[in-house]
Amino acid sequence: MTETAHAPCEIRGRLAPSPTGYLHLGNAWAFLLAWWAARQAGGRIILRLEDIDPQRSRDEFALAIMEDLRWLGMDWDEGPGLPSDGSGGPLPERGNCGPYVQSRCAAIYAQALQRLERLGCLYPCFCTRKELRALAGAPHVDDMGAPYPGTCRRLSEAQRMALRQAGRRASLRFHGPSEPVAFTDAVQGQQCFTLEDCGGDFAVQRSDGVIAYQLAVAVDDGRMGINQVVRGRDILPSTPRQIALLRLLGYEIPTYAHVPLLCDAEGERLAKRHNSLALRSLRAEGVPPERIVGLLAWLAGANPDRREATAAGMTAAFRPDRLPRRDCRLDGALLDWLRYGAPSGAAAYE
Ligand code: GLU
Repeated sequence: MTETAHAPCEIRGRLAPSPTGYLHLGNAWAFLLAWWAARQAGGRIILRLEDIDPQRSRDEFALAIMEDLRWLGMDWDEGPGLPSDGSGGPLPERGNCGPYVQSRCAAIYAQALQRLERLGCLYPCFCTRKELRALAGAPHVDDMGAPYPGTCRRLSEAQRMALRQAGRRASLRFHGPSEPVAFTDAVQGQQCFTLEDCGGDFAVQRSDGVIAYQLAVAVDDGRMGINQVVRGRDILPSTPRQIALLRLLGYEIPTYAHVPLLCDAEGERLAKRHNSLALRSLRAEGVPPERIVGLLAWLAGANPDRREATAAGMTAAFRPDRLPRRDCRLDGALLDWLRYGAPSGAAAYE
């Protein structure tokens, strides 16, 4: 569980897309920042396809995402979509830390679950979605689900057996240490949360057997030797949970940078429904990748004259300390510049 097939002090950053749709400008922004941070440090980029949810993931999106990343000028050193060095599988991949596609990692996640089980951190939870929804909302730092009050943690073996016999299927929940988890975020500053603040005991395996996001990400970051995580600030509330899992599984903790989000003119964060801002749509409109990169580099504080640029050409100018601290709004003037290259003096930040 502790393969270290990589040099110990090398920076290892990652791009971890979920192939549940086409990449939009907001994804491109977070991925470019992760790519610049690793490349600037002379580090490696690992591409990992987070297709853990079979109901939402599609191979077609995985292929499109890899094509869009390349179109924007991002490359990677390990992962799928690279000429195979013998790792095999339907999608060739390269690197010593594979598989790099989560749907192929069931045995690895099962081993991690066994280890957590042996540590006494897991219990079966029989609550249905409806019951969970009814456990209405004390405030918490996350929007990933209602805070869980630990109902099923207190069940006796006999009660568990009775629920199983009644046909209830159990998810597996993680009950971690109660001490606060502290970390310094390179963009958001010092952070300190208890797991209770982050929604309480969380699922590591769904009742249909699908491994939950938190476990898959922690195990993969750990076993792939990822030591630099750059991702959207919306994922920050997951970080204490992932750190708790990484610690218990005996992995090093990466450095974290949770970057601001890109929003539309109304201040709503870009999402898959913003179809017109999918990289594919922009490309079909004839927008060159250099203009997209130029705009995103400008928002990152690395391209003050807002010139068209390549990803590699902006690596040296990228400064993590110049990143905006607040979410960036793409107003009409900026979108005009993106589409038509028209000059614009509009303010970018909220
Ligand atoms: N796969 C996640 C997403 O596309 C990102 C997970 C992460 O960076 O930890 O939102």
